[in-house]
Amino acid sequence: MDDTLLMIPGPTIVPKRVLDAMAQPIVNHRGPAFGEILEETTAMMSEVFQTNNPSYLLTGSGTAAMETAVGNTIQKGDKVINVVGGKFGQRFQQITEKFGGESIEITVPWGQAVDPEIVKSVLEEHDDVKALTMIHNESSTAVVQPIKEIGKIMNDYDSLFIVDTVSSLAGDTVEVDNYGIDVCLSGSQKCIAAPPGMSAITFGDDAWNVINKQETPNYYLDMKSHLKYFKKDPSQTPYTPSVSLTFAMNEALSIVLEEGLDNRVKRHHIGAEATRNAAEALGLELFAREGDRSNTLTGIKMPEGITDQQLRGTMRNKYNVDIGGGQDHLKGNVFRIAHMGIIGLPELAITFTCLEMTLKELGFEFERGAGVAALEETYIKYQ
Ligand SMILES: *Cc1c(COP(=O)(O)O)cnc(C)c1O
Repeated sequence: MDDTLLMIPGPTIVPKRVLDAMAQPIVNHRGPAFGEILEETTAMMSEVFQTNNPSYLLTGSGTAAMETAVGNTIQKGDKVINVVGGKFGQRFQQITEKFGGESIEITVPWGQAVDPEIVKSVLEEHDDVKALTMIHNESSTAVVQPIKEIGKIMNDYDSLFIVDTVSSLAGDTVEVDNYGIDVCLSGSQKCIAAPPGMSAITFGDDAWNVINKQETPNYYLDMKSHLKYFKKDPSQTPYTPSVSLTFAMNEALSIVLEEGLDNRVKRHHIGAEATRNAAEALGLELFAREGDRSNTLTGIKMPEGITDQQLRGTMRNKYNVDIGGGQDHLKGNVFRIAHMGIIGLPELAITFTCLEMTLKELGFEFERGAGVAALEETYIKYQ
């Protein structure tokens, strides 16, 4: 058994209740027992998305849902604004271009959130923009984007608002209907704390109007087939879904709703504040700009003279704590600590104790215990 403490930004630690749910016997995916589970799970999914529209579960990781969002709404030659400030923003752009969309990129410096005024001016500049894609929580840079404000702006335009909440849903505030999000998607393995391999997506009326008017080059991820099977009694999916992961999602979402969305978001915010305080108490620098920092993971600059292999390697090999590295040009320059899902004070305390021991060993100077003390102080403040 691997007893590594998983502190990476997904997959995250899965509660035992969820693992146990996956051990249930497999049932007929077209029978009433599974139909009931599917209907219950998608209803909980909509509750978490805060939408009155149905949600659909897809067997496939978050990227499958990103592809579903774009592939069902964007056709060859469609203009799409892609907000790109990190690896996942880039992914949306790449998917847009794969489906023949004409990308209008809003380039955001890595480590910063987009300025809503810039989004407004780009929308003003172009006619016939079919959609705008953005990442709520850009996991590669540990930045949270102002989807509520952008949603308000999007209200005045016909373009679809497509939002990836893979690393924020059930960890930060996402109100799909209130924000005017037309297509919202998420994944199983981040704040929802289920195993990887499943994703969820929901569409508003405007999105369905677009989908129903056009052909999609998708087959497996064609939402028209998903809708057709979803409407059957009992509900089904067009092809065999991961039955076990559906059980897992059912249990994980039950845990989310038992805790309460507001409580869960508040707990994530406290974890984020504690992590930032602890890092800064050690004299480490946060990567993301103040005010734009994620509530579900924290990006920290690699201290001068210390390599990724030394820091994360020691954490993993000596202390069994797995933290995230940097992506693309941030590789070696940034490390990332997740405070997603069920992660709380105990996990962060172990992580910072081991981080302090690692940094001491590598010759970084700071006051021993300062990080852990800052964690404690933050948690005490909220008791
Ligand atoms: C993790 C993640 C994804 C999905 O990645 P998969 O590996 O396909 O699950 C998409 N967007 C964001 C913001 C993510 O953090």
